[in-house]
Amino acid sequence: MHPFSYTRAANTRQALDAGRAGGRYIAGGTTLVDLMRETVERPRTIVDISALPLREIMVTRRGGLRIGALVRMSEAAAHRGVRALYPVISQALELSASAQLRNMATIGGNIMQRTRCTYFRDVTAACNKREPGSGCAALHGVNRTHAILGTSDDCVATHPSDAAVAFTALEATVHLLGPDGERTVPFADFLLRPGSTPNREQALRKGELITSVEIPALPRPLQSGYLKVRDRQSYEFALTSAAVALHIRGGVIHEAKVAAGGVGTVPWKLPAVERELIGQRPSNVLWTKAAERAADGARPLRHNRFKVELLNGPSSANCAS
Ligand SMILES: Cc1cc2nc3c(=O)[nH]c(=O)nc-3n(C[C@H](O)[C@H](O)[C@H](O)COP(=O)(O)OP(=O)(O)OC[C@H]3O[C@@H](n4cnc5c(N)ncnc54)[C@H](O)[C@@H]3O)c2cc1C
Repeated sequence: MHPFSYTRAANTRQALDAGRAGGRYIAGGTTLVDLMRETVERPRTIVDISALPLREIMVTRRGGLRIGALVRMSEAAAHRGVRALYPVISQALELSASAQLRNMATIGGNIMQRTRCTYFRDVTAACNKREPGSGCAALHGVNRTHAILGTSDDCVATHPSDAAVAFTALEATVHLLGPDGERTVPFADFLLRPGSTPNREQALRKGELITSVEIPALPRPLQSGYLKVRDRQSYEFALTSAAVALHIRGGVIHEAKVAAGGVGTVPWKLPAVERELIGQRPSNVLWTKAAERAADGARPLRHNRFKVELLNGPSSANCAS
């Protein structure tokens, strides 16, 4: 680990001043410390933000939900309001990491976590995300767990967060506070596709702090679920996952919010699937037809063509292999 200095912010002003001076925020530390140990990350100063008042979960006036950036994953998953209004978020969180990690890790840190691409984490390998211009060892390397959507010639790494898939499906917004004041960014614009600058991962400006994630009010009742396929049934990242929320009234789907994880360089919204569902009556035939649109635009790599099948469902198994 490289030498670094540590400072603990007693209030938001102190945190922002330290952030503006180039300090790196640390919340639960469950991923940043790993990366520092592996020398993938080498911040000179880390700014502990865990004492800031960002641990509230509240129902908004419009009936949505605002989750503070420092709310622990386990707290958010167990919260009555989250469970009642957006159980898909609780499910995504409970299927993440381990109980110990969820007790330490925060919502802000979760959406900010960096890719699990093994080449990114191996400082001897070429990685444009870690070392711009060095190349992408995953493109022609072992790329079984990599992305099939939103990739570029410079990067094929997936975004690993499960909660971010639910936030993407539900069209959340991210509240930010920086030296120039507050602003909000739609979740869909917050995490950036790699393009030719995979080292730029979020739409954060220098020194900006995530203060909360807001989920908009959605028509009720809302039926939802989070499905995660992984190599083992616990303590593992998604090979492919899906967050789905449907508003069904009078036997017809009026609203559909769908996103996939484990397949995109960012959590992947599936508008074509949503369009297939809206205005239709739920049926197995409909699910199959809608799922057939889930891999639209996919560019599988040598070892991960199976992710197309996971997205499209069993009916595609023959044609996609
Ligand atoms: C073995 C293992 C398995 C895991 N499995 C899963 C899984 O299946 N699914 C999943 O989703 N995650 C998984 N994770 C990741 C885990 O969820 C993250 O480590 C955790 O959410 C990060 O939160 P943290 O508060 O500890 O972040 P930290 O490590 O403190 O910070 C992470 C990053 O976020 C930045 N940051 C933190 N808070 C803020 C803020 N408020 N504003 C701006 N920047 C901020 C930091 O600067 C840093 O860059 C796993 C992790 C491990 C180690």
